[in-house]
Amino acid sequence: MSAAPLHARTLAELAAGLAAREFSSVELTRHLLARLETAQPQLNAMVSITAETALAAAAQADGAIAAGKAGPLTGLPIVHKDIFCTQGVRTTCGSRMLENFVSPYDATVVAKLKAAGTVMLGKSNMDEFAMGSSNETSHFGPVRNPWDTTLVPGGSSGGSAAAVCARLVPAATATDTGGSIRQPAALTGTTGLKPTYGRVSRYGMIAFASSLDQAGVLAASAEDCALLLTAMAGFDPRDSTSVDVPVPDYAAALGASAKGLRIGVVKEFFDTGLDADNERQLRAALAVYASLGATIEEVSLPNVGLSVPTYYVVAPAECSSNLARFDGVRFGHRCEKPKDLLDLYQRSRGEGFGAEVKRRIMTGTYVLSAGYYDAYYLKAQRVRQLISADFARAFERVDVLMGPTTPTPAFALGAKTADPVTMYLNDIYTIGANLAGLPALSVPCGFVRDLPVGLQIVGPHFSEAKLLAAAHALQRETDWHRQIPRLWL
Ligand code: GLN
Repeated sequence: MSAAPLHARTLAELAAGLAAREFSSVELTRHLLARLETAQPQLNAMVSITAETALAAAAQADGAIAAGKAGPLTGLPIVHKDIFCTQGVRTTCGSRMLENFVSPYDATVVAKLKAAGTVMLGKSNMDEFAMGSSNETSHFGPVRNPWDTTLVPGGSSGGSAAAVCARLVPAATATDTGGSIRQPAALTGTTGLKPTYGRVSRYGMIAFASSLDQAGVLAASAEDCALLLTAMAGFDPRDSTSVDVPVPDYAAALGASAKGLRIGVVKEFFDTGLDADNERQLRAALAVYASLGATIEEVSLPNVGLSVPTYYVVAPAECSSNLARFDGVRFGHRCEKPKDLLDLYQRSRGEGFGAEVKRRIMTGTYVLSAGYYDAYYLKAQRVRQLISADFARAFERVDVLMGPTTPTPAFALGAKTADPVTMYLNDIYTIGANLAGLPALSVPCGFVRDLPVGLQIVGPHFSEAKLLAAAHALQRETDWHRQIPRLWL
């Protein structure tokens, strides 16, 4: 039996406690709902807290446990990023545009985790339409970093990351288009996995950039990420880009040893932009792998330096198309007393979207327009191929690639909002994996000036089990992932 308070336990530990009848799911749910409510004024991690439905689901889970019908996730509380449609509970995507939108159906991720018996405690705050790296573009206000509330938690899944970091909930769903799971994981000291493109269904996940978006998880450990991914992954006929490959039991695969693991260290990621203290922590983590018997060699991804400009053509192009549906007619905010149809479109979209979303729609429309399409969009797609080929070549020599998740630890709220390009550069190390559709995770690897930093591990397509096992190997040797900010102990 664990002596730790309920909120400080991992999903795996909580599952053991539920199975041993040490506490009930209703007790656990009440405890965490109280923490979510208390933390809300300080962290603003949530858009909605759904106490009533959570307690009903917990009671149902307790029934299943009593009847001996529990699965590995039955009765375990989670929150969903507010980008996933949830039947009967509003789904805002962090936008005024969808402030009152209640979806008539559940996203596949939500449906699968519900069927697995998890208890949803609410919907987490996020950058508007998942566009951002600091969680400052949300219509519902910024999320704050539990390590220091004057700092950002990272974005766009900042609410999910802050909630897990402060142990308001053991785990959360999140999405990653250019780094939105890994970057907040690094800045909050949590473990975050972006699976291979197509591994997890995008059905019911509000689209930002469809060729890059992927759903994943944020939790306190690789083991917990593995438990959730096993339940979330799989082919979905309702998502045409979902891939029909069998889902392994990721938790069962965690035991794989790091002995003989061929690690490639990405040369280009140790550039002048990387904080020197952050680099020291990364090198120390690499030394842990070496001591476990992994081999380490430097690998070059010559075109990866073009990731940010490539992404900021492709992602806005796709978003300009995806967000066209929010017109105040079928979906979204509708302005008062429109004069005519054009006025309805213009004012509804003008009022409903925030500044960053408008900037992306305008950039995207521009790069797709006749005359600029070849120069920007087509060129970006070609560079995207070069970046993918760099990764493919690297994986002929090594099993996984390692490097930093972010250039620096968490930065101050407001520090980068005036200059979008400075903000975009935060994702310089994460975007490559999205452009190539590869799985990647961030695992805590130390502290810099009392703030957590993350080690990024990238693998070939469908190598999630290998990435999780590599992260788990580090977490068996270190306890960075067990650190909780003092205020939230
Ligand atoms: N920060 C990147 C952006 O603003 C990535 C966001 C994401 O992964 N959703 O687009």
